Amino acid sequence: MPRPLMFAANWKMNVAPGEARTFLDRFLAIDKAVAGRTVAFFPPAVSLETTSARLTGHSHYLVGAQNISWEPKGAYTGETSVALARGAGAGAALVGHSERRHVFGETEEETSKKVRAALDGGLLAMLCVGEKLLERERGETEAVVTRQLRAGLAGVKGDANLVIAYEPVWAIGTGRNATPSDAAVVHAAIRVVLVDLGFLRDTRVLYGGSVSAGNVAQLLAEPEVDGVLVGGASLDPDAWAGICATSPSID
Ligand code: PEP
Repeated sequence: MPRPLMFAANWKMNVAPGEARTFLDRFLAIDKAVAGRTVAFFPPAVSLETTSARLTGHSHYLVGAQNISWEPKGAYTGETSVALARGAGAGAALVGHSERRHVFGETEEETSKKVRAALDGGLLAMLCVGEKLLERERGETEAVVTRQLRAGLAGVKGDANLVIAYEPVWAIGTGRNATPSDAAVVHAAIRVVLVDLGFLRDTRVLYGGSVSAGNVAQLLAEPEVDGVLVGGASLDPDAWAGICATSPSID
């Protein structure tokens, strides 16, 4: 049985509260809300509350924080705890996005602590993994994602509320996506690791990296691809609604 698809928008450092309201007014007017699909929004922290308030009552929408602290509270200037994110309406958290790992130097140990904090606090954790270009060229892709998965999921129970996003670093924001078959190979390797670690077979593995209206149907046609995590192409409500309504196709 195919896993239900998830479409996740990562707004990064874009979309202020007022803009989120305008975006969602338009998006909700045109979104087809395809049965069985989940559409997730990861706005910046300042727009969490506006986004979640506008989506309240729609069970197929999910709102999440782009980053959380593993600390529950205290003197951590600039950080957002799980409780604060939940208070603003978050039901999920992105963890280990490549920009957190490679721009802000987040370590695998920190990523692991964030995954556990998110899950312990009742959030769905979306753990991002992916190799850099040099690692791909050296044939290290599977080794890198396996290491990131094993480190990020250390101490996590098999029935955790977890989604994995495979995001090759060289594909993020570059306009250069992994081919559907390349993505499928890595997704299959990720599933082998998940099963080995005792995770449920219905744990979804999304693909992210320059997903657009032009390539999403082919990516979704791969049975190993359980949805997409999208940055740039999620910033326009019409484009995003179109992506969320896409039928898988091999054309
Ligand atoms: C991302 O931010 O996770 C991402 C995949 O960005 P983009 O779609 O712009 O490549």
